[in-house]
Amino acid sequence: MSELLKQPVVKDVPPKGDDLSAWYTAVCLRAELVSYAPVRGCVVLRPFGFGLWENLQRELDARFKASGHENAYFPLLIPESLLMKEAEHVEGFAPEVAWVTQGGTEQLTERLAIRPTSEVIIGTMYAQWIESHRDLPVLINQWCNVLRWEKATRPFLRTMEFLWQEGHTAHASAAQAREETLKILDIYHDFSDTVAALPVYAGVKSESERFPGAVETYSIEALMPDGKALQSATSHDLGQNFAKAYDITFADADKTIKYVYTTSWGMSWRMLGAVIMAHGDDRGLRIPPKLAPVQAVIVPIVRSEDRRALEKAPALLAALQKAGIRARLDDRDQKPGWKFAEWEIRGVPLRVEIGPRDVGNGTVTIVRRDKRKGEEGASRTVPIADIVRAVDAALEEVQANLYAQAHEFLVSHTFVVKERDEFLERCRNRSGMIDIPWCRRSECEAFVKSETGATTRNLRPLDADARCVACGEPARTRAYFAQSY
Ligand SMILES: [Zn+2]
Repeated sequence: MSELLKQPVVKDVPPKGDDLSAWYTAVCLRAELVSYAPVRGCVVLRPFGFGLWENLQRELDARFKASGHENAYFPLLIPESLLMKEAEHVEGFAPEVAWVTQGGTEQLTERLAIRPTSEVIIGTMYAQWIESHRDLPVLINQWCNVLRWEKATRPFLRTMEFLWQEGHTAHASAAQAREETLKILDIYHDFSDTVAALPVYAGVKSESERFPGAVETYSIEALMPDGKALQSATSHDLGQNFAKAYDITFADADKTIKYVYTTSWGMSWRMLGAVIMAHGDDRGLRIPPKLAPVQAVIVPIVRSEDRRALEKAPALLAALQKAGIRARLDDRDQKPGWKFAEWEIRGVPLRVEIGPRDVGNGTVTIVRRDKRKGEEGASRTVPIADIVRAVDAALEEVQANLYAQAHEFLVSHTFVVKERDEFLERCRNRSGMIDIPWCRRSECEAFVKSETGATTRNLRPLDADARCVACGEPARTRAYFAQSY
């Protein structure tokens, strides 16, 4: 076995508060979400990790389809000549592109890029498909992998190859493209709130944080426990930049030939990294029920010769599964305490215990993962006849409580700051989201970055005349500053 193939052995998850980075890596491996791959920068998504991704995908895909989008698939390889057409885009991605230069034994006459994103290949096809205003809008999404050259490996947060969805749309007017960009931002915001249980700030990016080739980039930004922001999804209004580079035109109703307006937008498995980091605790993951591959695990408790719980368990499993609950029965030959700890590390929202006494009473005990042992509401005993309703209700409570805890954290770590010294200090110390009136000047942002490591995360309209807290020039917007992942 090569050096790279050796997996770090993780027996225990270290306390989350001591070293977030060590906790994060340990929990991703120990909960069997990922393994490191033989290629540096890549990870293997194991079944439990892929289950998270499938649930993200299903929830998001339903929202895209409900708003009129369709899925399609485009090739992995992009000819170099095509990639070179949009100058800003090329410059932005050049350092991260991997190239195929040889096929079999044949040296290629033109290099092929492995897609870092698909604006180029999709724009090229749209130029062929779109002829008339009647063909618009085109609303397509693609679920795929992309590759951006990267040596560091942090599961979900920093990997060379990653999974994502990328939407690409074409419209007849600038207003329609902007409307689409914002509609998608709302979908991401809603997904983050209601599925990932993660409150975020949504807004427009500053010029220096904008996607290469975009007119405007919007983002949702979550706050992690170490006070760093994590950009969880972006939505780009590309104006006519890509339409002009790739010659995507249409005949309008008055027969004049015009360039279309395009958008692109994406959420990657990075969102799962945010979920893991924001919700987890010292015992491991705490997965929001709507994302959890296993929502409830049934653990029968067998005492000496009394195996009635084990016999009763399959009927409970069947009842939960029939009701659409993602349930699993853990009937392995292990001690209950060992099983409890294993499922806690994996963050399964509910544990359904059934022991000999429960069998006699016709009850089960439901234990919530989001609460500590002994905390009010951590467990409840319910009649077996009531199990589906009780599990459903408890899942909703876990989902709501995880959101409430994350919301409380975001609110208590957002600081409206008026003094320059306090601003720089809070940026340096990673206090959280630092909210100031800002001048919107790149020089000012560059200065703050060099002094403190923080940048603007996103911006929103100014509510009253003010001076930029960072530099004293007239403010043009409000901005959240933070260090970021
Ligand atoms: Zn300024």
